Amino acid sequence: MSEAYRIGTGYDIHRLVDGRKLLLGGVRVPFMKGLLGHSDSDVLAHAVCDAVLGAAALGDIGAHFPDTDPRWRGASSLDFLRHAIKLVGEKGYRVANVDATVITEQPKLKPYIQAMREKLAEVLEVNVDAISIKAKTNEGLDAIGRGEAMAAQAIVLLVHSPQP
Ligand code: MG
Repeated sequence: MSEAYRIGTGYDIHRLVDGRKLLLGGVRVPFMKGLLGHSDSDVLAHAVCDAVLGAAALGDIGAHFPDTDPRWRGASSLDFLRHAIKLVGEKGYRVANVDATVITEQPKLKPYIQAMREKLAEVLEVNVDAISIKAKTNEGLDAIGRGEAMAAQAIVLLVHSPQP
């Protein structure tokens, strides 16, 4: 693998339930519900992680961090992301930019978007202007529209820049 650019997409969805903290892009978002899952269930970080892995054809988050492995119980999804960046780095790639969308009816995410961008930029080792995060509702449709789940999509471009 030595192409100048590699592109990857990621998608994830988690159930919104009572009694869980809501973490998005590594940022704690105050809300009456949180996302259900084995790790911290950061749906945005998971979608970005899958996009990073996918760009390098390295499989998916479930293959690297199986939910059957007790090591990952309650794990920080930012650690998944750091690991994915290390793997693509070993292949000579770094992140050029990320564009991601979080889909949820509630809460309004606008006040937290900048903090998410800064957190993901730090973990992905890029400038904050390389990270775009958008939020939208599902217009009341389907499980997301009923407030039962939250989803995220991400696309990542990797650029080949091997360390000298
Ligand atoms: Mg997930």
